[in-house]
Amino acid sequence: MQDTLANSVISGNRRALARAITLAESSREDHRAQATQLLARLRETGRQALRIGLSGTPGVGKSTFIECFGLALIRQGLRVAVLAVDPSSARSGGSILGDKTRMEQLSREPGAFIRPSPSQTRLGGVASRTRDAVAICEGAGFDVVLIETVGVGQSETMVAGMADLFVLLLAPAGGDELQGVKRGIMEMADLILINKADGDLRAAATRTCADYTGALRLLRKRAEDPPGFPKALMVSAIEAEGIDKAWDEMQALAHWRREHGHWDSRRADQSVNWFEEEVRNALLSTLQANPVIRGAMHDIADEIRNGGTTPNDGAARVLGLIKESGGIA
Ligand code: GDP
Repeated sequence: MQDTLANSVISGNRRALARAITLAESSREDHRAQATQLLARLRETGRQALRIGLSGTPGVGKSTFIECFGLALIRQGLRVAVLAVDPSSARSGGSILGDKTRMEQLSREPGAFIRPSPSQTRLGGVASRTRDAVAICEGAGFDVVLIETVGVGQSETMVAGMADLFVLLLAPAGGDELQGVKRGIMEMADLILINKADGDLRAAATRTCADYTGALRLLRKRAEDPPGFPKALMVSAIEAEGIDKAWDEMQALAHWRREHGHWDSRRADQSVNWFEEEVRNALLSTLQANPVIRGAMHDIADEIRNGGTTPNDGAARVLGLIKESGGIA
């Protein structure tokens, strides 16, 4: 059964692609097993997309940029998948990255595929499902997979951890707003794009771009970067300006990393992290499926809340219980 679905995904069938992602998002155990099989089959294709992580706060122009950038890639004959990672949907079931129709033109293109964020109760669950979706899109033969997230919380780190390149979209700022971007996020960025470099905002965009160019120069040089990276550029998603240049830079960086072995080593590191995270998640769900341990964790959490014990002591007791029950040799 999974072979038929896998073959349809590989042959580019969009409904099969959507079904495969839905299967991978399911938490049902039999679905998980099927998804694992499917992913193994897709992996055999050896297909690789360029995975681009894209982050920016709400309103900075992510949808507008992706629409414009995606259409530019489509015009070059490339196929583009857009996956959203929305931490707000993990917390509240609501979504910043929109139930509204976004990227309308792009979504009508046969070469494009747009998928909203999986909603899960934990961000870790979203990470794991999104990684699967990326792998499925690669198996389906997309050339570029854009993984979009909002600039809040931990989601950038998560997205950078599954992308080959990480792009940060910023709006022109007045004065000294540079510190608004956390250093850790600057350090993850390969390319900073100052959007809205048009009309009245152009002058501010030029200043902001110069400020970030200066700030990026002060960051520690990374071995996986060619000279000149990370860099800041100006774009206007509305005017479709600077988009080709931004794509050229992304390709140049990707090419350099491939040539110098950084692409493969980055992916290898990411796969190992992914594996470790899967083991952690699987262990935790196995433990929570055990009623004795689940009950104890619940009671100990209450004790901790009431000041009856410390988190360390509580954790030690849970581990003791697991060992006693023969759960971990
Ligand atoms: P998102 O929340 O990051 O997805 O942002 P949107 O793409 O929805 O854009 C937010 C607002 O910024 C909208 O009103 C857009 O029209 C506007 N916007 C987006 N890109 C540009 C641009 O390049 N120039 C200007 N002037 N406005 C833009």
